[in-house]
Amino acid sequence: MTEKGTIFSQNVKQTAFDSGHRKKMTARYEFFLRVAEDCANHYANINLEKSRAFNIRNKAFKYYDKYLVDFETNVINNGGSVRWARDAEEAKYMIYNILNDEKSKNIVKTKSILAEEIGLMPFLEMKKMNVTETDTGDFICYQYNERPSDPNHSAAHKTKEDIAEIYSEKFGVSDKLNAKQLMTVTRKVLNDKYLNADAAITGADFFVAETGDIILSEDEGNVLKSISNADVHIVLVGIDKLVPYLDDISVLLPLSSLYEVANIRAKSYYTILSKATWVKSKHQKLYVVLVDNNRSTMLGKDPQRSIMTCIECGGCHSVCPIYNTIGGHVYDNAFPGPVGVIQKIADGYDEAAHLATLCGSCHQCEEYCPMNIKISDLILRNRIEIAREDGNLMGEKRVINFIMKRVDNRKDMDKTKDFLNRLELKQLIKKTWGVHREMPTFAEKSFSELYTTIISEESI
Ligand code: SF4
Repeated sequence: MTEKGTIFSQNVKQTAFDSGHRKKMTARYEFFLRVAEDCANHYANINLEKSRAFNIRNKAFKYYDKYLVDFETNVINNGGSVRWARDAEEAKYMIYNILNDEKSKNIVKTKSILAEEIGLMPFLEMKKMNVTETDTGDFICYQYNERPSDPNHSAAHKTKEDIAEIYSEKFGVSDKLNAKQLMTVTRKVLNDKYLNADAAITGADFFVAETGDIILSEDEGNVLKSISNADVHIVLVGIDKLVPYLDDISVLLPLSSLYEVANIRAKSYYTILSKATWVKSKHQKLYVVLVDNNRSTMLGKDPQRSIMTCIECGGCHSVCPIYNTIGGHVYDNAFPGPVGVIQKIADGYDEAAHLATLCGSCHQCEEYCPMNIKISDLILRNRIEIAREDGNLMGEKRVINFIMKRVDNRKDMDKTKDFLNRLELKQLIKKTWGVHREMPTFAEKSFSELYTTIISEESI
């Protein structure tokens, strides 16, 4: 097992049997199921819409080289500039250099899974930059020095009481505040930051090759507030967020909000940054940092590349029984849940091996995925690749061969059952099985033994 794998196993054991954590995750899961129940009813034909969406994303991948260059040309024509980052390090230094060149002192940041992926906040803090996270959920997590536990609901693992306690410690308010009062404190802290911001860092939902437009969506209004005041706007976005035409977003945006909590199945605010909005209306400088960070490796992998069509709706991890048992933090990944498990294969064996086990092949995620991604199959593919690379699997292969030979033959199988029931063997397996679980006991007699006994008794 890799070093990461060992830490991961310890964390899994801790969270899976933590009853408080389990209670929060179960409440979250039940809430999601209620929200998701009538999602498809918002469409006359949801399956048609899903295939349209899948085709749009796949078309983009087919002509990537052309579309990416078209986008860059259009952004430059619109008055902005584009930087290309091969990996996380390059992306972080690019942003740091832009902020330095622009002499930005007060920086506001909005929610971005990619910023989590490349570790942007810790990096900028290490460089002594004054950056404030403005998404409420992420803001709460940063008070604990934690990363968001869920891509869509960052502080889902915290209760109202947890938040009141940390706010009391950090902002000197009462630790008995209710949810509304806690929001008022958050707004007050953040409003000062917006007013004094000279640079804003945002993510993007999509960017459009045809026009050079950038699409942002949000529920809180913090993106609009951040970019309205700051003179410099840096958009951090992965190359996978490309769509060929502006029309395409009319299909993709509603699907990406399919599991929104509000019953309108849409975000509260959508912003299209176009030539008209950012250049003509204001002397704001716009920088787009386009990040690869192994996305092109993933695009070269068939069939795993289909995970790149993901529009981050959050459906798959919300419904995943494993995610809902261990929670987001254990994955130690910007995108926890099934998507992150699949994407990690592009980062190599050490990063992906321990995550590949996180699937029970229940296929629930596929039912909810608006992009029709064969999520469980892709995880299985990863397992096959990892098993091929792993040189330490000889022991496991011998055990499996032993078991397979036994189950091939009825008499041998019955003997194995007696063997498995023996105490010392249970002790041997107990460590893997887990101390919190009872080892199953095989019946005294197998069905075949019972059957043979009954037949022989009847024939007497
Ligand atoms: S894989 Fe599908 S269900 Fe999961 S987040 Fe992406 S689009 Fe949503």
